[in-house]
Amino acid sequence: MLRGKRVGNKELQELVTNLKGIGDKTGKLFEKCGVKTIGNLLEYYPRGYDHFKAPVRACDLRSGEISAVKLTIIGRVTLRRVRNLSIIAFEAADATGKIRIAYFNSPYLMSSLKSGTTHIFRGLVQKKGSFLEMNQPKMYLDEEYAALLGTLQPRYPLVKGLSNNTVKKAMSAAFVNAGHFDEFVPQDILDRLKLISYSEAVYGIHFPSNEEDLENARRRLAYNEFLMFVLQLRLLKASQEEVESSYKMIETSDTVRLLEKLPYNLTGAQQRAWEDIKADLTGKNVMNRLIQGDVGSGKTVLALLALLMTASNGYQGALMAPTEVLAAQHYENFTSMIKKYGITALKPVLLTGSLSAKDKKEAQRQIREGEVNCIIGTNALIQAKVEYKNLALVVTDEQHRFGVRQRESLAGKGLNTHVLAMSATPIPRTLAIILYGDLHISIIDELPMGRLPIKNCVVGTDYRPKAYKFIADQVAAGHQAYVICPMVEEGELDGVENVTDYSETLRQNLPASVRVEMLHGKMKPDKKDKIMDAFARKDIDVLVSTTVIEVGINVPNATVMMIENSERFGLSQLHQLRGRVGRGDAQSYCIFLNTSESEEAKERLSTMNKTNDGFVIAEEDLKQRGPGDLFGVRQSGELNFRVGDIYHDSDLVKESAMDADRILNEDPELSSTQYSVLKSLLATKSANSVDFATL
Ligand code: ADP
Ligand code: MG
Repeated sequence: MLRGKRVGNKELQELVTNLKGIGDKTGKLFEKCGVKTIGNLLEYYPRGYDHFKAPVRACDLRSGEISAVKLTIIGRVTLRRVRNLSIIAFEAADATGKIRIAYFNSPYLMSSLKSGTTHIFRGLVQKKGSFLEMNQPKMYLDEEYAALLGTLQPRYPLVKGLSNNTVKKAMSAAFVNAGHFDEFVPQDILDRLKLISYSEAVYGIHFPSNEEDLENARRRLAYNEFLMFVLQLRLLKASQEEVESSYKMIETSDTVRLLEKLPYNLTGAQQRAWEDIKADLTGKNVMNRLIQGDVGSGKTVLALLALLMTASNGYQGALMAPTEVLAAQHYENFTSMIKKYGITALKPVLLTGSLSAKDKKEAQRQIREGEVNCIIGTNALIQAKVEYKNLALVVTDEQHRFGVRQRESLAGKGLNTHVLAMSATPIPRTLAIILYGDLHISIIDELPMGRLPIKNCVVGTDYRPKAYKFIADQVAAGHQAYVICPMVEEGELDGVENVTDYSETLRQNLPASVRVEMLHGKMKPDKKDKIMDAFARKDIDVLVSTTVIEVGINVPNATVMMIENSERFGLSQLHQLRGRVGRGDAQSYCIFLNTSESEEAKERLSTMNKTNDGFVIAEEDLKQRGPGDLFGVRQSGELNFRVGDIYHDSDLVKESAMDADRILNEDPELSSTQYSVLKSLLATKSANSVDFATL
C-alpha cells in the first residue's frame, strides 16, 4: 500500500537534493539520468526486477540465468593476487553437483568463506569450459534469503558512480516526501477496467510486493500512456480534421524527371503510396498520412518526392528524424542525389542541435528568408526560435519515436501544414487506426526487386572466432559490417558485452588492416555524425555500436550484422537491427549471438532464423513475451511507450481509445473541474516521447 502522506503535487517539483541522504554529488549523477525533481525520480522506472525465487539444486543451474543455490564450500578456499586484482576462488557443492565461485578484491570475505560452511549464493551462472561458475554472487544466510523470497527487487538504469542501492534509497525517501499523484482518470473507468489508483501504481512499479502487484501497477501506467497518447492524437486531429488546405499544390514536372533519372523503378507499393501522397497534396484538405513499410522498403525516396513537389510549388518542407545521425544521413543522401540527378528546385539545409551557434543562426536566417526549402533536422527544428517562411509540409521519419506534442508543435509552425509520417513499425492495421485515428495509411508491403533475402544464423559464443573470420573475409571483399552490443561501457550487468571493450577485442582479433570504430548514444552528437559519415564513406570497415543505429541508417555496402547478447533484445528490435543490412545487391548476413543457454532464448531467437517478415516477427514477439519482460533492453521500442506495449496490452489500447472518445464527447475542451488534472498533464508532458535509443 501507499506509504506517502497526502501532499500537494508541489512536492513533486522539489529537487531530489532536498531528499535526505542525497547530496550534490549524487544529485549530479541523477541529473545525468534526466532526474532533477522528486517527480522525475518517482517516474524513473526500473528497467527490470530481481525476482528472488526459491533456490534451485546445483544440477538445475543453467548458464546465462541468475539463480540462487544453497551450497557447501568444499576443498580449499584460495586467495591469489594477479597484478592489482585479488581473487578468492573455491568450489561449492550440494548433493547434485558442484560449481566454481570467485570474488574479486574482497579479501575480507575470507573469514566467512570457510571450507565446510553452507551459504545461499545468488548470481549469474556462466559456463567456463566444462564447469559452471558464478562470479561475485551475493551471499545470504537462510533467514536473510527467506525474507527476500518471492519478492521483486527493482533494478534501475544506472550511470557510472550511481548504484542501484542509492536509487532504491532515494526512491524510498521520495515516497515519504511526495508519494501522491493526483488522480485524473474518472472512477467509473478505473472500476470498469479494474485499474488501481495512479499513486498506488507509481508505488507498485518501484516496490511491488509480488508479481500480481507489479502487473497491476504496470497495467495502470500503461493505460495512462495510451489514454494520454490517444487524447493528444484526438485533440490534434480535432484541430486539423477536414481543414481546408492553405497549400494546395499542383503536379510538377520535377518529380516526373526525378523518377526518370532514378536508377530503379518504384515498386508497385511505392508507386501506390506516391499516388496517395500526390492526391493528398493536390487535394482540398490538409494531408495527414502515415506511410508504413518494413525496413528497406524504400520510404526515403517517397519523402524526397513529396519534399520536391512542395519545393516546386514554391513552399518549404521539413524532414524530421529521431536522431542527429539519421538527420545528417538524410541530408548527405539528399545533397548527393540533388547533384547526381540535377534536382535544382530542392535547396536543403541541415538543422540539428549540435550545429555551432553561428551556423544555427545562419541556417535559421536562410529558413526565415526562404533561401532554403527543404529543412532536415531533429528536435531542434521545432524549437521556438525557428521561423519558417512558408512551411507547407512536415515529413517525420520513424515517426513512432516522436511525441505527439512535438509533431503538433511542428505542425503548428505553418498554417495547416501537411503531415506525412513514415514508420517501419509493423503495427497491425486495426491498432494503427485506433492509435492514429483516421490518419490515412499507405502500406508498402513489397521490397525492391533484386534483393537477396538475408541469410541468418543463431549461434553460441564458441562461434565467435568463425564470425570474426567471416567478417574479415567480407571486409576483404570490400564490404562492411556492424557489430551490436547492448551496453556502452562495462556496467552493472554481468556477462553483457559493451561497445567500448568489444571494439578493442575486435581490433585484436581482426587483421590490422581492418578499421574498427565505435558508436553509441552517449557520444557527443557531432562525434556521432563524424563516425557515421566515415562509415558511409567506407573509411570504417567495422562499426561496433549500441542500438543507436537501429533507426533508419542506410549503408547499402554493409553486408554483415552481428548482434552480441541477442537474447537481450526484443524480436522486433532485432528485426530493425537486421534491417541495416541487405540494402544493396550483395548477399547479406545476420549473426545472432546467443550468450545464454536458456532453451527459451534459443527458441525465441530461432524465429529470426525462420522469417524476414516484420509482421510475422511482431506477432511472435507478442506471443513469446511474458509480463516481466517488458522493460529494459528487451523493450522493443514500438511507439516507445515506457510501460505499455501495444501488442501485449492491445485490449487497453482499445479501451483507452474508447474512453478518450467518450471524455472528449462529454467535454471537448476538458474544461470541467473533473478533467483539470488531465488537462494540465496533457499540457505539460508528452506521453510518448521517451527515447530508449540512447541506452
Ligand atoms: P527504408 O524504408 O528502410 O527507409 P530506404 O528508403 O532507406 O528504406 O531504402 C533502402 C534502399 O533501397 C536505399 O538504398 C534505396 O536507394 C533503395 N531503394 C529504394 N527504392 C528502391 C526501388 N524501388 N528499387 C531498388 N532500390 C530501391
Ligand atoms: Mg528509413
